[in-house]
Amino acid sequence: MYQVDFVPPSGSVEHECESISMGDWIVFRCPICKDYFRSINLITGEMKVGGSKESISHSGKHYSPEFAEELAQDNSSKAKIN
Ligand SMILES: [Zn+2]
Repeated sequence: MYQVDFVPPSGSVEHECESISMGDWIVFRCPICKDYFRSINLITGEMKVGGSKESISHSGKHYSPEFAEELAQDNSSKAKIN
């Protein structure tokens, strides 16, 4: 299971993001904030982010076939990607 946790800003609004796989990368995009994205490299852990606002906490879920076995055992794969 892949999970990321970030400290959310206080008093923030939370947006649920959508994720897609791009090779070794998972890319989260917010349907509300058109310029927001967060990319995470599953191999290196490298992270890229753009369009982030301090007042908005972004979270997202990502499922992929590689993690299906682990997801079957643990359903708490919600990722905090503020
Ligand atoms: Zn947003």
